[in-house]
Amino acid sequence: MTGSPKPTVLVTGGGGYIGSHAVLALRDAGWPVVVLDDESNSTGVLVPQGVPYIKGSIADRPLVAGLLREHGIGAIMHFAGSMLVAESVTDPLKYYRNNTLASHALLEEMIAAGVPHIVFSSTAAIYGAPERLPIEEGDPKLPINPYGASKWMTEQMLADAARVHDFNYAALRYFNVAGADPDLRAGQIGKTSTHIVKIATEAALAKRPHVDVFGTDYPTPDGSCVRDYIHVSDLAAAHVAALEQLIADPDENLVLNCGYGTGLSVIEVLDALDVVCQRKVPRAIGSRRPGDPPQLVASNRALVETLDWTPAHADIHQIISDALAWERKLKNGKPV
Ligand code: UDP
Repeated sequence: MTGSPKPTVLVTGGGGYIGSHAVLALRDAGWPVVVLDDESNSTGVLVPQGVPYIKGSIADRPLVAGLLREHGIGAIMHFAGSMLVAESVTDPLKYYRNNTLASHALLEEMIAAGVPHIVFSSTAAIYGAPERLPIEEGDPKLPINPYGASKWMTEQMLADAARVHDFNYAALRYFNVAGADPDLRAGQIGKTSTHIVKIATEAALAKRPHVDVFGTDYPTPDGSCVRDYIHVSDLAAAHVAALEQLIADPDENLVLNCGYGTGLSVIEVLDALDVVCQRKVPRAIGSRRPGDPPQLVASNRALVETLDWTPAHADIHQIISDALAWERKLKNGKPV
C-alpha cells in the first residue's frame, strides 16, 4: 500500500497473546491502532504506551458503536474470545457466548458503522481430526469440540454476511502458535498455561518440575502427537499482510491456514528444548489428553501464494528460545 493513509485498526483482544503481537506488527508498519480488551485473559500490560486502550467487551454494543465512530475505525482485527479446548467441553455455552454470539454483536456494529474490513482469528480446530494431511482450506470442517464449532460458526456468519453487506473479511486459521516477540516486547502471560511450548519453557526454568508428554501411543512416527508450530511474530505479520490484501482487493475474502506446513512431534519439540537449554529438561511420559487429534499439519500454499508474507522465524529452536527468553522476564506471571 503506497500513497493512501493507513486506516485506524481496532484490535479486539489486543491485550492478549496473539493480539498484542498483532498490535506490535501493525504499529511497526505504521498503522494507527486502538485496543479493546475485556481482560478476561490479560491485564493490559502488553499494550504499548500511546495506544488508546479500552477495557470492555465486544458484546457491549453501545461501547463498540461509540468507539468505532469516535476513533474513525477503518478495519478490525478480531482476536477477542475464549480459547481453551478442554474448557469448551465442560462449559460449551461460554464458548458459543464469547466466540459466536459476541462476534455476531461485533459484526452487526461493524456493518452498522460501515467498517469495510475484518481479519478474524480462526483455528485449525474447525477441521477436527482430519483424515488427510496436510490440511487444505477446502477440507471438511468437522470440529470435535465446542471451541472449534464456535469458531466455525463465526466463519460461516462472516461468509454469509459478506455476501450481502459491504465488507470483506479474512479468516486466518491458526495452527499451533508459540514463541514471543524477538525484542521481548510481548509474549504469553495468560492466566492458565496449557500449551506445550509455554509449559516446556516453565519446566526449563524450574517453574514446574517436569513436562508431561500426553501420550506416546498415537499412530505417528514416535507415538507422540504431531503439530505445525508457527512463531507468533510470523503469524502477526500474516495478519498485517491479510489486511493489506483486503484493502487492495475489496471484492475478495481470504480464508487461509496459518502454519509452516511442517509437522513436529511433542518429543521433537522437547528435544529442541533440550538443544536450546543445552541440558535435558525433565519430562514424564503420560497418558493421552482427551480430544487431541494425532496430527495437525497445515497446507500453507494459499497463505504463501496469496499474501505478501515470508516467514522470518520458521525454526522451532528460535520459537523456543524466544519463548524461553520471555519466560525469564516473567515474575509471578508478569513481565518485569
Ligand atoms: N502436550 C503435551 N504436554 C503438555 C501440553 C501439551 O504433551 O503439557 C501435547 C498435547 O497433547 C498436543 C500437543 O502437545 O498433542 C500440542 O498441545 P497444545 O496444548 O500446545 O496445543 P493444541 O494442539 O492442543 O492446540
